[in-house]
Amino acid sequence: MKTLNEFFPLLSQKSKVVITTHQKPDADAMGASLALRHFLDELGHAVTVISPTNWAGWVNWMPGAKDVLNYENQRKVAEQKLDEAEWLFCLDFNIFHRTKAMEKKLSELSCTKILIDHHREPDEASFNYGKSDTAKSSTCEMIFDFIEESGHDALLTKEISECLYAGIVGDTGSFRFSSTHAGVHTMVARLKQTGLEHTYVHEQLFDNFLENRLRFIGHVLMNRMEVFYEYNTVLIAIPKADLLKYEIRTGDTEGLVNFPQTIKGIKLVALVIDRDEERKWSFRSKGDFDCNTFARKYFSGGGHFNAAGGGSTDSLDKTVQHFKNVLKENKDLLH
Ligand code: 5GP
Ligand code: MN
Repeated sequence: MKTLNEFFPLLSQKSKVVITTHQKPDADAMGASLALRHFLDELGHAVTVISPTNWAGWVNWMPGAKDVLNYENQRKVAEQKLDEAEWLFCLDFNIFHRTKAMEKKLSELSCTKILIDHHREPDEASFNYGKSDTAKSSTCEMIFDFIEESGHDALLTKEISECLYAGIVGDTGSFRFSSTHAGVHTMVARLKQTGLEHTYVHEQLFDNFLENRLRFIGHVLMNRMEVFYEYNTVLIAIPKADLLKYEIRTGDTEGLVNFPQTIKGIKLVALVIDRDEERKWSFRSKGDFDCNTFARKYFSGGGHFNAAGGGSTDSLDKTVQHFKNVLKENKDLLH
């Protein structure tokens, strides 16, 4: 994989571009994709953003979100765009299987592939150019760097800033996580100069739900949460019936995994949701417990040191039992 510095000279050749990201894109994934789209539009490229799946309603306010293709239900037009593309940007994921049904199509493409991502263990061999940096707070921070380092600071707009700010807020837990280095604040100061209204973005991300989602959280914390003090661990397991009863939609469960971290002394929080296609795990830790290794080793997943995810094709009961068993194996790491 060559560096982005080697890619920058190509930016002057107007090209057909597809930008894609991981399944169920979150604020960082969608914010990075749309910010890059606006930037490349300004440079005169023909750009399409394709999401492998649907996404949460709370990213629909982002400028350009309405033009994003959903590969799940717009497959024909999405594949046509992919076939025509000269460049494929892959943002906020680093291995094609994170795009689920799009994996095969992406790996068959012969166009120039560019990776910009901050997760661990990238599949560098699949990309021609790119940057993979786990020290970055978010992929949105990396898109900001991309714009700056390519020499186009003057092309930052309010639209781009809104998209970038949303992703930075999302991935830093609103500037809380240790990934929030000084440069993140400097970057936000620059975004503010473009006219960014940060309160508006926070409201779009966090105050944009229906009543049922709050009642669902109340139910889950009351009835679906187990605390294992001997392992400083909390488990929340959500059966499909709960999702149906409370009419839970994509994105409604975002942030749920953070609530148990407010209990004093908790080191690991695990959340598993019985989704149609798989049992989807989320892991969050504090301090020196490595969620990425844990998710990789036991739940075919990965991510970051303190935030990772995984999946299982087992039943909910079976995967929960597996979690409880492996918790015992990790007792020394969780004391
Ligand atoms: P979340 O729990 O918010 O879904 O994901 C936490 C972090 O782990 C995110 O950075 C996400 O990209 C990553 N992640 C989530 N699920 C998976 C997975 O199944 N495989 C891998 N490799 N990473 C995941
Ligand atoms: Mn991210």
